[in-house]
Amino acid sequence: MRLEDKVALITGAGSGIGRQAAALFAREGAAVTVVDIDEYAGAETVQGIEEAGGKAVFVRADVSEADDVRNMIDQAEKTFGKLNVLFNNAGIMHGDDADAISTSEEIWERTLSINLKGVFYGCKFGIPALQRAGGGAVINTASFVALMGAATPQIAYTASKGGVVAMSRELAVIHAREGIRVNALCPGPLRTKLLMDYLDTEEKKQRRLVHVPMGRFGEAFEVAQAALFLASEESSFITGTELVIDGGITAAYVTPQ
Ligand code: NAD
Repeated sequence: MRLEDKVALITGAGSGIGRQAAALFAREGAAVTVVDIDEYAGAETVQGIEEAGGKAVFVRADVSEADDVRNMIDQAEKTFGKLNVLFNNAGIMHGDDADAISTSEEIWERTLSINLKGVFYGCKFGIPALQRAGGGAVINTASFVALMGAATPQIAYTASKGGVVAMSRELAVIHAREGIRVNALCPGPLRTKLLMDYLDTEEKKQRRLVHVPMGRFGEAFEVAQAALFLASEESSFITGTELVIDGGITAAYVTPQ
């Protein structure tokens, strides 16, 4: 097993990438602290893991609140004795997030406080726990929009994800000699609630798929597998990088029809 005797914490684990990663990490031997703002969804993830014979506990936290994030790290350490893998994955995409002219300050603040400050808090309170464990892996979920611009803009979301990539890179350098690796994930469009709620008509979905060389949305599980690689010893010499899981979007100038 690839995460035997490891303890992992995953935010946004009530749905999508986080839920798939929680189940996968548990199958690979990790004890998992499942964190979400949605208690019902988080409890369901834990139930699924326990039914499959894995170990998990749910802690409710809003990642934009410092006290909640401090508490989720404390709970993980108290419950399982240490923390080896920190997966800062929770994020939102607001339907009213558009260009700089029309996006309200409120949407900007809300998006940045969850998607960027939430990752900062995760690192602020989580990295000391990894230090206490003698090292570990941090994985921060960014997006392919951190790497290229979109004509259909979500300016707050894009800015937040660019910040996640830059912050991850710098933290990787700072903590490299402590045995702590920090990497960012850059998924392309996925068939999860977050994006399907946003692309709420068939026309909008097809419009987005025009740009994906593989011609389909990615699955949350495909990103979870990339997160598992970054969490495990298989990526032991990889730090400060962005792992792109995007069906070829960032490689394409023109996509095949
Ligand atoms: P999802 O909506 O399926 O899951 C996100 C989870 O985060 C939900 O369970 C939600 O309750 C939780 N959450 C939201 N706000 C929170 C908060 N303040 N505190 C704690 N938990 C909170 O979405 P997903 O597609 O699995 O997205 C996970 C991550 O992947 C996000 O950071 C997202 O930006 C990123 N991402 C998604 C896509 C995509 O196409 N879906 C592409 C690139 C990156």
